[in-house]
Amino acid sequence: MAHSLLLFKQRLSNEVEQLRTILLWELSQSDNSYEQTLSVKLKSTPTTKWVELLQNNVYPTLSEQVTRLNKVEAALCQFEQGVYGFCADCETQISVSKLNKDPTEQRCKSCANKSAI
Ligand SMILES: [Zn+2]
Repeated sequence: MAHSLLLFKQRLSNEVEQLRTILLWELSQSDNSYEQTLSVKLKSTPTTKWVELLQNNVYPTLSEQVTRLNKVEAALCQFEQGVYGFCADCETQISVSKLNKDPTEQRCKSCANKSAI
């Protein structure tokens, strides 16, 4: 695997850690006892199962973080499968500059342009 791709993996892993910290903090600070209980439950749950748990419930204030966690987890999963960095539509390699802007990018430049039209 190219060295630059490993840097993206590192960035994605760091982002998962940050999102975990934010979500746990927000839930544990909640006035809602259910959300407090959930924060305790999440601590002993692998991060790969978090989105499933959080999506079953509606947290308007946290939906941005949950959506982002979902994307980051999906990208890390692609590393496991060896398909990270390839366009979801045409399977060509996504440029490093595009991945640099967002390591969870799923489409190459030309496919992203097509879907934007
Ligand atoms: Zn493409």
